[in-house]
Amino acid sequence: MMVAETSSEPVAAPVPAASKAGAGHIRLTSHAGGVGALQIRWGASTATERGPVIGTTTKRAHRNVIGTHSGSYGVYRALAVAAGALSREHKADLTDTAPTDVIGPYPQWSEPGTIVSLDPWGAMVAEVFADELAAGHDMRPTIAVTKAHVILPEVVDAVRTGRLVPDGRVLLPTGAALVTKAAIEPVWYLPGVAQRFGCSETDLRRVLFEETGGMYPELVTRSDLEVFLPPIGGQTVYVFGDARDLADPSVELTARVHDECNGSDVFGSDICTCRPYLTHAIEECILGAQRGGVGLVAYSRKEGRALGEVTKFLVYNARKRQVGGDTADQYFARTECVAGVQDMRFQELMPDVLHWLGVRKIHRLVSMSNMKYDAITGSGIEVGERVNIPEELVPADARVEIDAKMAAGYFTPGPVPDADDLKRTKGRGLGG
Ligand SMILES: [Zn+2]
Repeated sequence: MMVAETSSEPVAAPVPAASKAGAGHIRLTSHAGGVGALQIRWGASTATERGPVIGTTTKRAHRNVIGTHSGSYGVYRALAVAAGALSREHKADLTDTAPTDVIGPYPQWSEPGTIVSLDPWGAMVAEVFADELAAGHDMRPTIAVTKAHVILPEVVDAVRTGRLVPDGRVLLPTGAALVTKAAIEPVWYLPGVAQRFGCSETDLRRVLFEETGGMYPELVTRSDLEVFLPPIGGQTVYVFGDARDLADPSVELTARVHDECNGSDVFGSDICTCRPYLTHAIEECILGAQRGGVGLVAYSRKEGRALGEVTKFLVYNARKRQVGGDTADQYFARTECVAGVQDMRFQELMPDVLHWLGVRKIHRLVSMSNMKYDAITGSGIEVGERVNIPEELVPADARVEIDAKMAAGYFTPGPVPDADDLKRTKGRGLGG
């Protein structure tokens, strides 16, 4: 029988012979672990006042959040420990890992309610919390900033056909674009997230607890912990040009906020416009940066409208097998039949990343989504021109999606399809 440690004295329990993890007792986090945890004052204007986010699993008393680092990959970390491949005592050596570009601090970092789903200080942990690190607190950056060359066949083709001209600064003659990129893990300030979704913090905590199968008891037992590292995918930003220019509203900013679509983005599936829109946006970002502006693609891991790829493929089959075939007028209905909702991306949290980058104005928003537009402008960021996907980039089978979306309110400079048009817009069958 295993004995759980609670807030009282640790109790050692027999270790199963097969256990490779080496722990003698289960380390529950559902009750306060004693003294030593540094306080988080979310939204404070300096790093010192705000305090570090500590999701370590080694020193329970130091934890000041619910959950662990790395988003969904925290589960793989557990597997590595269980398999004996990773010591649970391992501390990250952060030598030479500092960001390649300085991002912030910006005023938005401490404007109440402006950033609630990421840690704006997350890239600077080793620098701004050096004293706490030296004092033995196991902390990890939740944001990493680096540089890369990205080579996309569409961009290489654009160079070959003359749509893009290499300048040696943003775009090389090989078609490689020079970028600064940042990976961001989710860090949720629960009172702020509840406010965004118009529910009480208590309800949010309870539903998060119940709908994850009781994965994080502290959601309901530790109201003193207000920060949650949710086990979900994060986001990546790609910057074309100087990242500091993102915060200067006088510098032309071309931006796309893109939600993951593995089928199209990576594998080139033609049922949607995701990759064509993404590569079109990258071309626009390169052109904008070459004009003296800056380009930004913010990519969120929200596969299949955050319904997941299994649901997405079920919907594809339901669309293509329904009576009358895959028509635009039934596009949203089929998703709703399978998933219960049309969309679970909820763009409410999406603008946080833009505020982390200091963005005040997007001159050219490469997106037709009214939900993204409303979320961005609703968060106080000015949007100038909206750039739609050129007709020639829409694959034939993706007409169903794009027509249905335009009829539902997506931005288009052209005519909006009516009910009869939607009945006529038809995709391929499953056999074709
Ligand atoms: Zn797609």
